[in-house]
Amino acid sequence: MDALARLKLLSHQMTLEPAEERSASATRPAAHAACPAGLVVQPAQMPGGQIQLLKTLLTSACERDCFYCPFRAGRDFRRATFRPEEFARLFFSLSQSGAAEGIFLSSGVAGGGIRTQDQLLDTADILRHRLAFRGYIHLKIMPGAEKDQVLRAMQLADRVSINLEAPNTQRLARLAPHKVFLEELLRPLRWVEEIRRSQPPGSAWNGRWPSSVTQFVAGGADESDLELLTTTQWLNRNVGLKRAYFSAFQPIPDTPLENKAAVDPLREHRLYQASFLLRDYGFDLEELPFTGPGNLPLPTDPKLAWAQANLGETPLEINHASRHDLLRIPGIGLKGVEAILQARRQSKLRDLSALKKLGISAERAAPFVLLDGRRVAWQLSLF
Ligand code: SF4
Repeated sequence: MDALARLKLLSHQMTLEPAEERSASATRPAAHAACPAGLVVQPAQMPGGQIQLLKTLLTSACERDCFYCPFRAGRDFRRATFRPEEFARLFFSLSQSGAAEGIFLSSGVAGGGIRTQDQLLDTADILRHRLAFRGYIHLKIMPGAEKDQVLRAMQLADRVSINLEAPNTQRLARLAPHKVFLEELLRPLRWVEEIRRSQPPGSAWNGRWPSSVTQFVAGGADESDLELLTTTQWLNRNVGLKRAYFSAFQPIPDTPLENKAAVDPLREHRLYQASFLLRDYGFDLEELPFTGPGNLPLPTDPKLAWAQANLGETPLEINHASRHDLLRIPGIGLKGVEAILQARRQSKLRDLSALKKLGISAERAAPFVLLDGRRVAWQLSLF
């Protein structure tokens, strides 16, 4: 296979990896003019706007045997491998042609985690220093990578990730018995935060330390949502994790978990909603509407469930509620709260149209608010 054919193959094999913010307008990867046919490049939302992101592996060969993974050793499928120089030059030419603006680069483990990490680092180093690539790089940290390799990755990348896969040691043993949760996976995440806290970011390629994220295979080890969110909250608070990604378990043929039932993708969505409530909206774990075994109800948005239980009889006055309380009202997000705080300094908010003008989903908020001391007339019918 020539180099572009290998890259097409690898980019297809990576489409399930939820590693970046998907553009809201992109439900599926969109082909665009400069992109060679067959190469999967996906729109991804970054703080500065949308970019075309190539998600790929340096190699889909892997010596490990994680139970859920399509790349596990011994599984029969077509694999492809790049050397760092070859890959860096190919990706750079694609970026020059406008086919891709950023890259998420991962790898199967070949020759141990340390050697594989070196290959990823060499690739990013060639891109940054020999080819002067200034675009977005997300680098995966391999299980078993060393601390100086984590530092090097942080100097080259805009984002680094270490996939925990499961929320704790016991659950990981059911997914990937040869991965070591604390030493191989959690420790590198701790190193990222240690480096951020102890070293000025002057040696980072752009003068800023990268963000760090992780991913869980939701439902793969029969863990509860409570376990996943407990670990996520701990990571947010203790190792500065920017975000946890949840990938609903899907059985892969010819793996030990091929007969395990797929997990409803809605569970993934509820986990994201709950993790944002914990990270950005001031919720505590105890406030989330877990059912007996520690799972979120699938039919209901967790914020709506909380509001139905806590605000239905005691709606909040929009004109006086604190920032903390406003964040708990369905239909009002982070930007909406700031808009309300600013608008009510000028004048009272008296009706739903005033909320709508602030970009708030007024119908969702209506059952839980008072406007100038009154419930909104149409909302009464909802009760
Ligand atoms: S180490 Fe990574 S690529 Fe290899 S089998 Fe495990 S999850 Fe898959």
